Amino acid sequence: MSDGESTVDSWYEATRVATRERGRLSFELDIDVCVIGAGLAGLTVAREIAKRGWSVAVLEAGHVAWAASGRNSGFVLPGFHEDEDTIVERIGLDHAKHLYALSKDGVDYVRRTIAETGMPGVDPVPGWLHVSKTDGDDTVRGRVERLRWIGAEVEAWPVARVRETLNNPRYFAALHYPNAFHIHPLNYALGLAADAEAAGVRIFEDTPALSIDPTGVRKRIDTPSARVRAPRVVLAANVHLGSLMPQLAATLLPITTYVLVTEPIPMLNEVIRYKGAVSDTERADNHYRIVGGNRLQWGGRVRLWDAEPRSIARSLIGDIKRNFPALGDVAVAHLWRGTLGRAVHRMPQIGQIEPGLWVASGFGGHGLNTTAMAGELIARGIVENDETWRLFAPYELVWAGGKLGRVLAQGLYWGSRPFVRAEEEIARYRERARQRKAARMKARAEQRAKLPAKQAAALSAIAEVAEAEQEAFSATAPARAEGAPSVAPVTADDRAAHLETKPKEFGRRKGKRRKPKGGPKTN
Ligand SMILES: Cc1cc2nc3c(=O)[nH]c(=O)nc-3n(C[C@H](O)[C@H](O)[C@H](O)COP(=O)(O)OP(=O)(O)OC[C@H]3O[C@@H](n4cnc5c(N)ncnc54)[C@H](O)[C@@H]3O)c2cc1C
Repeated sequence: MSDGESTVDSWYEATRVATRERGRLSFELDIDVCVIGAGLAGLTVAREIAKRGWSVAVLEAGHVAWAASGRNSGFVLPGFHEDEDTIVERIGLDHAKHLYALSKDGVDYVRRTIAETGMPGVDPVPGWLHVSKTDGDDTVRGRVERLRWIGAEVEAWPVARVRETLNNPRYFAALHYPNAFHIHPLNYALGLAADAEAAGVRIFEDTPALSIDPTGVRKRIDTPSARVRAPRVVLAANVHLGSLMPQLAATLLPITTYVLVTEPIPMLNEVIRYKGAVSDTERADNHYRIVGGNRLQWGGRVRLWDAEPRSIARSLIGDIKRNFPALGDVAVAHLWRGTLGRAVHRMPQIGQIEPGLWVASGFGGHGLNTTAMAGELIARGIVENDETWRLFAPYELVWAGGKLGRVLAQGLYWGSRPFVRAEEEIARYRERARQRKAARMKARAEQRAKLPAKQAAALSAIAEVAEAEQEAFSATAPARAEGAPSVAPVTADDRAAHLETKPKEFGRRKGKRRKPKGGPKTN
């Protein structure tokens, strides 16, 4: 492909279902709707238009789903690339609820389509666990409550349950989405294309749209060998739109991320007992799942320009080892990359930008549900004049900053990593402090049980004060850590041990009397 993305090493290519070759467009075509791009967005909109009885053709520069749609991690999740709190902040709770409901419709669309068409090789597996590396049970329960306000079907998993399921002591509580699932995305896209064709869609591969004349009722689209005329055009070209419409292309930031699949790992299912999809950051790193029974698929790392695949593979393996040392050495069987398109506001671009010219793009890293949702919305908009797509109006087309935008995005990704790591360290530090405190309390309770009641009560009061001081110290410890002197502070343990072993030092000294200083001389 033009950007050098190859699927030769993709696990999906190695396990794809058989499909037929589709020829290039070589004759003039008059049609109701011309869709540009045969990724998930273009295929879904074309399928939905054809099912409503209109004629539709898809022009694809390469072949069906060669790009992000056939290379992604395969997580079908509700929501958007943008996080829910920010959406609510920007457009208000009621509006956010509508958008979230549409995003769930997208999840249902994919599930229903797989079931109804019986497409082979897609292998849906339920569940998504979004693990926190910093938040305990209370924080995650709070987040669950906020998510439920906007209509999410989500539950909190406490720390103990998470660690029972995923053998990683760095993990804390998690959000569990039982209705999310993961799939083989390439086989889904191929199944979607086949079903769209069964509904009447004509797909032309190796047929780039070279130029569009959007004026007039019938728009003209030139390809290398033929011209298409259509009153409606849908641009579903993601980051590959390029010179066809440079101004529109400039509203997306192309972000390349990587995915690997390991060789079979014998003890994988004992270390990772969860069969659904797992993410453990808010960013592009550490999204994983088990594929093929005993292989680990792991995605992460962001590059806004070319990177050396071997160094990326080493980094990803490093991520796996840091999180799951119990897996031992793991070998890479497949490594590939894909490029997603992200708008500045991190929400999809859906709607009619000029009479008859529609856009379905910018789905970011959350495209499996949102391309499905957009496909339905645009088909309904075109054929039935339905205006639900206008709910996305607050998210207009904004310039993504060109080269500078890329540099900034890469800088932010790299710059945020040390902070994220530091937050994780602090969370673990706090957990260890809590564990030490629990052990101290237990030991003290055992000791007090052996003491007379009065002495035990006095010791409890002293220990409480010491404990409070220690907590105040611990709360600020990570912040002070760098510039801290190398002398260890006196801890509550030291103090309590001192108090408990030498209680008599609190009494008055008997025997020797001190000679009074000054005063009248006796001689
Ligand atoms: C590594 C990776 C992991 C991801 N993981 C997930 C995930 O787990 N879950 C999730 O929901 N999302 C995920 N995503 C995002 C998701 O894959 C995308 O948002 C989605 O596939 C975008 O689909 P699309 O149809 O808009 O674009 P694409 O799949 O990029 O398709 C665009 C198509 O348009 C064609 N085209 C462009 N210009 C022209 C032209 N002039 N003429 C003809 N054809 C043209 C291209 O050739 C291409 O085939 C991931 C993305 C990546 C890269």
